[in-house]
Amino acid sequence: MTSFPAAAKRVRDSSADPVARFWALRECSLHFPIYGFRATWHHLTVQAGVPRQLSDDPESLTRAVDELEEARRHWLLLRYTFADRRRREKAIGQRQPTLGDQWLSVMSLAYCPDPGRHPDERLIKVLHRLIDANLSEPQPQPTCAVCGNPRPVDTFCTACGVDPRGPTVQLPAGIRQQADDSWHEIWQRTAQKPRRLQVT
Ligand SMILES: [Zn+2]
Repeated sequence: MTSFPAAAKRVRDSSADPVARFWALRECSLHFPIYGFRATWHHLTVQAGVPRQLSDDPESLTRAVDELEEARRHWLLLRYTFADRRRREKAIGQRQPTLGDQWLSVMSLAYCPDPGRHPDERLIKVLHRLIDANLSEPQPQPTCAVCGNPRPVDTFCTACGVDPRGPTVQLPAGIRQQADDSWHEIWQRTAQKPRRLQVT
């Protein structure tokens, strides 16, 4: 895999084959899978209107990478700012990283177990809310960092699909199957708007 900037450049190359540009967009999404790769991919392709026939609108791929890059640029800036602050703290003997530091070290910042169910606002807006929620004091009642709805501590948010436990959590078989089925449609670009997860 090449770097994000190199892959993004290939996505924007209007002289290249749309299929090659499409695979370069996939590479960019793997570099910054804010909801996990599958849900991030669904979000980008639906919001940018990437058609089933790529040649019908190859510039949709540029719109998709523009949205992803906007959020990634902000995230990198934040990481840089935190790393700089940590260096200064270490220099004065403060060795414990904060929760905010740990959160910024992961790539799937708001993991969504079902690729068809995730926030549908622009990524940069969701990222801003995530930053506010993760860098502020924990709430007495657990709430979703993205949509602010109350949620149980041991599951995903049924309002927006984000699971604060991250990608390592084992999902119930029914939900896993639902997620796999929806991924098939997404990859074929026959799935459209994000939908609600059925909790069984
Ligand atoms: Zn939520």
